[in-house]
Parts: sequence; C-alpha cells; structure tokens
Amino acid sequence: MATAQKKKKFRGVVIVAPERCKGCAICVEFCPTGAITMSDKFNSKGYHYPEFTYPDKCTGCGLCGMYCPDFAVYGFREKIAEGE
Ligand code: SF4
Ligand code: SF4
Repeated sequence: MATAQKKKKFRGVVIVAPERCKGCAICVEFCPTGAITMSDKFNSKGYHYPEFTYPDKCTGCGLCGMYCPDFAVYGFREKIAEGE
C-alpha cells in the first residue's frame, strides 16, 4: 500500500539585507539545517553576505536572525496556501 506523503503546512523564509551585513558568518554557522551559505559576492563595504541557497531545508526557526548582531538576516515561517 502506498503511503501518502504528509503535505507541509509551513515553509521557512529568509530575508537578507546585504548592505547591513558585516560578513561574520554567524548565521551560517548556527543554522541547524544548512539552508543558508555565504555568497561569493560582496556588498558595497566589501563583505560577503549570506544567501538563501537551500530554501527546502529551511524550517523557519529564526535562529539566523536571532544570532545576527547586525539585523541583516531574518528567518521566519510562512503558511503555505491551500493548493500550493
Ligand atoms: S530560519 Fe532557521 S533553518 Fe532557516 S536559514 Fe534561518 S537558522 Fe536556518
Ligand atoms: S550573522 Fe548577520 S552580519 Fe553576520 S554574516 Fe550573517 S547576516 Fe551578516
């Protein structure tokens, strides 16, 4: 008998403000799922900043935003609309 896959009701979303970032990579270090990685690109101050590389891995736990000393990243949970 085939088992029905449980449909996700929420997805994790991450917003990055590259210009606020100082490139410390704390957010990447503390993300429990590896959903964000440091970009190869630089902001105007010359710092690498995080990118939301693997959205499917993100649980929306918000740890990245809690640890960022510069309010440059924010993770949260978003409800998935019916039929999406
Ligand atoms: S919200 Fe949580 S899982 Fe998603 S990128 Fe931030 S720390 Fe990682
Ligand atoms: S913790 Fe904040 S300042 Fe440090 S790399 Fe991540 S977004 Fe940038």
